[in-house]
Amino acid sequence: MKVARFHAPGDIRVEDAPEPVAGPGELKIRVRNCSTCGTDAKIFKFGHHHIRPPRVMGHEIAGEVVDTGERVQVIAAIPCGTCAECRRDRLTVCPDQESMGYHYDGGFAEYMVVPAKVLAVGGVNAVPDGVGFAEASVAEPLACVLNGQTLAGVGPGDDVVVMGAGPIGCLHVRLARARGAARVFLVDVNAERLAMAADLVTPDAVIDSDPVEQVLKLTGGRGADVVITAAASGVAQEQAVRMAARQGRISFFGGLPKDDPIIRLDSNLVHYRELTIVGANGSSPAHNAEALRLIADGRVPVADLITHRLPLTRVLDGIDLVSRGAAIKVTIEP
Ligand SMILES: [Zn+2]
Ligand SMILES: [Zn+2]
Repeated sequence: MKVARFHAPGDIRVEDAPEPVAGPGELKIRVRNCSTCGTDAKIFKFGHHHIRPPRVMGHEIAGEVVDTGERVQVIAAIPCGTCAECRRDRLTVCPDQESMGYHYDGGFAEYMVVPAKVLAVGGVNAVPDGVGFAEASVAEPLACVLNGQTLAGVGPGDDVVVMGAGPIGCLHVRLARARGAARVFLVDVNAERLAMAADLVTPDAVIDSDPVEQVLKLTGGRGADVVITAAASGVAQEQAVRMAARQGRISFFGGLPKDDPIIRLDSNLVHYRELTIVGANGSSPAHNAEALRLIADGRVPVADLITHRLPLTRVLDGIDLVSRGAAIKVTIEP
């Protein structure tokens, strides 16, 4: 079979590999869609400390169980299920978390084996009727978005700012609407990408410069109830704190480069305005199941966000589209 393997930064190869064999407690699936995201572009450029090459990449996975034909979606982040955090049901911050496509071969392959660990934590979800494999593969990033908005308490009546108009930003806009947000504003410094995203998710306003001033203007000086940074930008994080309303919540959804993670923020804004700043680290198996339901019942449509469908042989083109911000969602069809 064909796989796309990471060998070293800048070196991902589409090559032949033997079909994997499922051991006891494992599940072999025929991958139908494995979508790409900014993380894949980051791995391609820099590698990742959890990836020991060669490794089949791909963590947004949907396919068919080989034995039964059942249509399934697979989680990406695998909590251990037994540590102090997991026992407190804080599965997204399990310190022993492993990931598909990092510790285990992922979905950029015709076939893959789901590790027993994934099955043990309920990490394989049946895809509801009417949901295609490509849409189902987007349940994983949507699950992460759901975790972020749950932690930030996005709810009815909120004015929400989403900073970053990539696929994650688009999902944030859609989910905020589904959760009853009053208005959603979308910010990006890349005007082209912003326009492409805005065509799809129709925010109440788009902002491509001076975001703090613009958000204050749009909210009559009050600021936004929730600000979500869906970009690896310290500047965006600093701006997010300054544009939040009193008792506002700020989600540092996107992480910063690990060699440059320090920002400057006015601590007195946090103090006097009673701001809450929350992080977000992946998603739990329950978030994945809920994300599939959101997609299936139409509360969060994702089919139109899939702008490119490519065969496995073109995975590098897909990663290139993602890193240039020239696509919303690119899905690979092995
Ligand atoms: Zn991803
Ligand atoms: Zn754990």
